[in-house]
Amino acid sequence: MPSNIERLKIAVEEWLIRNELDIDTGFSSIEEWRARNEDFLNDAELVLVFEGGLYTMLNYGGDTAEFDEYIESFGYFYELGHSWNMGFYPIPNYDYTTLIGSYAQKLQDTRWKEKSKLVKERAGWKCQDCGSIDRIETHHCYYTVMREGNEPWEYPLSALRCLCRSCHEDRSKIESRMRAYLAKLTTNQIDSLKEGLNTAFYWFESDAVVELLSKLGHSDEEIYMAVADLLKKRNDTE
Ligand SMILES: [Zn+2]
Ligand SMILES: [Zn+2]
Repeated sequence: MPSNIERLKIAVEEWLIRNELDIDTGFSSIEEWRARNEDFLNDAELVLVFEGGLYTMLNYGGDTAEFDEYIESFGYFYELGHSWNMGFYPIPNYDYTTLIGSYAQKLQDTRWKEKSKLVKERAGWKCQDCGSIDRIETHHCYYTVMREGNEPWEYPLSALRCLCRSCHEDRSKIESRMRAYLAKLTTNQIDSLKEGLNTAFYWFESDAVVELLSKLGHSDEEIYMAVADLLKKRNDTE
């Protein structure tokens, strides 16, 4: 299994890609960094150098809450050196023990319990699908591959959803049907579909986009109506 800092690096790399912040970013090992003779961060375990979106997020008041919490869930914190680089440091006295037990046992770990509580808190202690306050649980919308060895709490908040017991049961089934469906598509189609939905959801209300898609098998008239309806439901993107 990769070391703690390697696992953090893999996780941050992927998080940056998913959040479209990866352009002009790159990691330097601490040896590479020290060789540059910069004034800061020479005692870090790993350094990330960045321009672009991450630079803007960190220096111009972007929302860093998910990023900060995600780094922390691996037992690390970061410090900015200059405005264009950050160093990762282990949190003193952090418990890095890897749990050997079953998945159910891992969910008893305080690190998971705290993360789960944070997800529920952020959702206002309500199911994010139906609004129920009854028997709410925290769901992983995906799992990373085994070789990355992520513990249940080593996920970004956006990977987790607060759901009531009944929505949770439904969701697990529906997510695996969706995954099974992806088997019909080429990798490029999946990637374009994701990009297309991302753009559509940015510009239009998501329910209206889904409604239009559901009308595509209907008559031309119904399709035109759904398009006309969608055009009235632009998001307020300033
Ligand atoms: Zn629900
Ligand atoms: Zn779940």
